[in-house]
Amino acid sequence: MSHRRALRFSNVTCPICGSKEVARDDQKGDLICTNCGHIITRKDTRAVGKFEVAQLLKREGMLSFSQLGEMTGSSEDRLYQVLQNMVNMGHLNEIQGRYSLTKRGSRWYRQRLGQEWGY
Ligand SMILES: [Zn+2]
Repeated sequence: MSHRRALRFSNVTCPICGSKEVARDDQKGDLICTNCGHIITRKDTRAVGKFEVAQLLKREGMLSFSQLGEMTGSSEDRLYQVLQNMVNMGHLNEIQGRYSLTKRGSRWYRQRLGQEWGY
């Protein structure tokens, strides 16, 4: 049986070496850094939280649905649910498929951040 792996580059940065040459193994769904060999495992059942989304958007400013998917490793339907939820709560803006935090979303994030750190 042939076992061909289709590799294509994703837009993820390797958390270990910082290389942008991270390829996706479509068969297994893992991301592999072609520079240092680090494997970023992608679990499709992984639930993404609102806090994680807010954190990424706070850092990056604006992200598309597919970028958020790559960065969180969340499955599309779960990610979509979380994003819709945040849009409905007024925490996110969606402009032409790109998401960013609203003022209210930033405030919510800072509040949650405070809770995470216990103050
Ligand atoms: Zn690497």
